[in-house]
Amino acid sequence: MSEREAFELTPKEENFSRWFDEVLFKAEILDERYPVKGMYVWLPFGYELMENVMNVMERLMRQTGHRRVYFPGVVPERVLSREFRFIKGFEDSIYWITRLGKQEIKEKLALRPTSEAIMYEVLNRWIASYKDLPLKIYQIVPVYRYETKATRPMLRVREIVFFKEGHTFHATYDDAVEQVELEVWIYRKFYDELLVPYVVVKTTSWDTFPGAKYNYDLITIMPDGKALELGSAINFGDLFARTYGLEYMDENGERKNVNTTSFGISERSLAALIAIHGDNRGLKLPPKLAPIQVVIVPIPSKGYEEKVLEYAKQVKEMLSDFRVQLDDGEERPGYKFYKWEMKGVPVRVEIGRKEYESRTLTLFRRDRMERDEVPLEGIKDRVKSLFTEIEEEMREQARRYFKERTVKASTLEEIKKGVGEKIVSFPWCGMEECGHEVEEEVGYGILGYEEGALEGTGERCVICGREAKHRAWIGRSY
Ligand SMILES: [Zn+2]
Repeated sequence: MSEREAFELTPKEENFSRWFDEVLFKAEILDERYPVKGMYVWLPFGYELMENVMNVMERLMRQTGHRRVYFPGVVPERVLSREFRFIKGFEDSIYWITRLGKQEIKEKLALRPTSEAIMYEVLNRWIASYKDLPLKIYQIVPVYRYETKATRPMLRVREIVFFKEGHTFHATYDDAVEQVELEVWIYRKFYDELLVPYVVVKTTSWDTFPGAKYNYDLITIMPDGKALELGSAINFGDLFARTYGLEYMDENGERKNVNTTSFGISERSLAALIAIHGDNRGLKLPPKLAPIQVVIVPIPSKGYEEKVLEYAKQVKEMLSDFRVQLDDGEERPGYKFYKWEMKGVPVRVEIGRKEYESRTLTLFRRDRMERDEVPLEGIKDRVKSLFTEIEEEMREQARRYFKERTVKASTLEEIKKGVGEKIVSFPWCGMEECGHEVEEEVGYGILGYEEGALEGTGERCVICGREAKHRAWIGRSY
């Protein structure tokens, strides 16, 4: 097999699904060959990358006053079953522990399908008075849900490995409203740093998270034109408080229900980053998140092997502020180039006899696949500014990518025309009947709407012709 073939991918524009699976495997993100369907092995490179992604979120959560906790991974049926009342279809996706060795267990235990029940059971002991509020916690744990549709690595799994979920508790409904705004802010910051484009929408009243007052979703678009939900910020009001007896004593000694919210991310966030930025050579990673930011590849030529390697080591030392790796392995340079391009290393330094003799370096940037010869002197600053350039370029690419996959429609006909391949936005008055009619006519559900985005613009609802309030979004989705 030639060097090229070892790192060949099915073209992304031809078959995104296959490209995605191949890139995860060839870039060593994860191994799909685990004998349980819908569950995957994370490889060291993939794990490091995911850690870098999680660290961005962790930093934002801590900055905004959330503190990390851990709650056990199993929940008794008696506790969980209270949630069944308002979470439809949820029961069928739960993994139960029913045996202990040869013995049946008296009370079944569920493998954490969600954390609300587990937490709330304990929290009514933590929260007694208004002085205990607000309480803002998060945990990073796997959750298990039996996914009945075809499983897909990172996108539709039965074990969500990196479920990072924030749960917050507030005295008043208004405090919870404010918290949800903060959660949306956190999401924005997070995805801006990942260079993943998105739109923030409120879901329609008929599509709101079961039992919630309302929720905001962040939505992006995958290369196959389908919308992908990146995260939800959910205001539960006092729903869980009523279910789990979560009360507090206010300033006047009156018992009141606690208001709660939740938000979170999973490995889907990384899936979006990979899918949107990757190309037919492999991953393309933002310098801030790449496990290896700079790779140095020495190019040996006869009689200069030692000198070139020495020079390469010197360069590595000069770049030690970055996550830098010197690849002095046995493979040929061409093989190494393909390998590191597949892994999305943002900057490659190529060093051969020519560079050694002229005290220069050849810098290759992965985003543009371009080479540039630069002097050794000032290399650290040069690489640092190159990171900034790469990030700006990738941000611009992401913006263009998103624009190309969306259409602004102003009539029902335009929605129908655009909706097969793209995600379509349209003016909506906000009335349920009009929303349902669009869904029926178009054959897809409304993904959500940008609240009040069209107020005062004079745009008209595509169904009733009345003044539109919101910009709604519709299209195929994951
Ligand atoms: Zn209308």
